[in-house]
Amino acid sequence: MDSGTRRVTDTWLLDDDMLVHKGDFLLHEDGSFSSSKGDEDVLEVIDGSMRLVTRSFQNWHTHMAMVLNKSIGEGLPLMEWLETSIFPAERNLSEELVESGTRAAVAEMIATGTTFACDMYYHPEVVGRVVADSGIRAKICGPITDFPTPSYPEGAGQALKKIEGLLAGGSPVPKKIDYGIGTHSVYTCSEETLQKASELSRKTGCTLSIHTSETRGEVAECHAKHGMYPIEYLDSIDYFTEGTVCAHCGWVTKKEMRILSGHGAHAVHCPTSNQKLACGGTMSYPAMMDAGVDVRLGTDGAASNNSLDMRSEAKAASLVQRHDHWDARILGPEETWSLATKGSEDWVSWDLSDIRMRPWGRDGRRLLPNLIYSGARVLDVFVAGEAIRRDGVTLTVDEAGASRELESSVEEYYRGL
Ligand SMILES: [Zn+2]
Repeated sequence: MDSGTRRVTDTWLLDDDMLVHKGDFLLHEDGSFSSSKGDEDVLEVIDGSMRLVTRSFQNWHTHMAMVLNKSIGEGLPLMEWLETSIFPAERNLSEELVESGTRAAVAEMIATGTTFACDMYYHPEVVGRVVADSGIRAKICGPITDFPTPSYPEGAGQALKKIEGLLAGGSPVPKKIDYGIGTHSVYTCSEETLQKASELSRKTGCTLSIHTSETRGEVAECHAKHGMYPIEYLDSIDYFTEGTVCAHCGWVTKKEMRILSGHGAHAVHCPTSNQKLACGGTMSYPAMMDAGVDVRLGTDGAASNNSLDMRSEAKAASLVQRHDHWDARILGPEETWSLATKGSEDWVSWDLSDIRMRPWGRDGRRLLPNLIYSGARVLDVFVAGEAIRRDGVTLTVDEAGASRELESSVEEYYRGL
């Protein structure tokens, strides 16, 4: 028995095949589980009679520190929102602000059952430090644009050099945290920048991420400039490396879906952000499945969502896909849950005394639909054998302190704006 094993008694457990079990279970440090006979040496015994144990959420597209920008530029469409609201505010961004924003974001994610984020934001080394302290997992992609940014005021050349240095320094927590490269988009990065980032990804084996085909304007502009849509264009310049993370993919052709599939790219559906910014195009989940694309789910930054709660994102994905395709069979509870937790090796327990989880139904058959469409509080979060939340209290981040710090940071950030 490994030293991080816990026994959860008389509980409901949802396994990786979406089957609900009832009984006593051991949660092992390596992320696996097994039935308990009741006599094993364990770190802790947890009364699971009012708990549902599931895999944790994996949030594949975030800008964590953007909780600092929540609700600014409400009502603006994407390009206007970026140019008149987000980018001007970010000129005042400091390392300290990124630190407090990231800490608040991580606290929100743990409290809502997420143990992994694929992030793209300024001062990635600061993000890495905060995430390491929190105990969750992450891919932290240093952002690259051709224009000057708060972390790289000299633009893309400096960004690439600094990120190369960061990658050379290795992971702050091996097996949990990796650094990567976040080329912002085809409209903020030149061909040369995109190719150099791709070369660095190939050389180091790190993850490459990008926003792509988010709005109709972006794809039309790319087509007018290059005679190709964004994913075709990226393919033509040999941009993709194994497992490239492509956020949004709302306006893509079937040919582009085949390109994504051929490169083993992850296409990240961000339904709430897309709807909040009125992007119009919805990623076609069934067409992506037909093309064999690996689809993941993400909230995007809290600035374009107001929430990092993946339970809400899972619900939004299921609803918008059904609605857009006039087909209530798409993304049922099992498939939606699988999409939102794909690859998770961690565990979350949900509070069954929460009225939103009732009725449970015969053999617990209503538990999963209730969880997705209705909601529940998170009691415990376990990552690689470590309890980072127990009985509704996060242990690795001071949630109240992070909230107070966020308030004063926002005050400072927007002073003079
Ligand atoms: Zn984004």
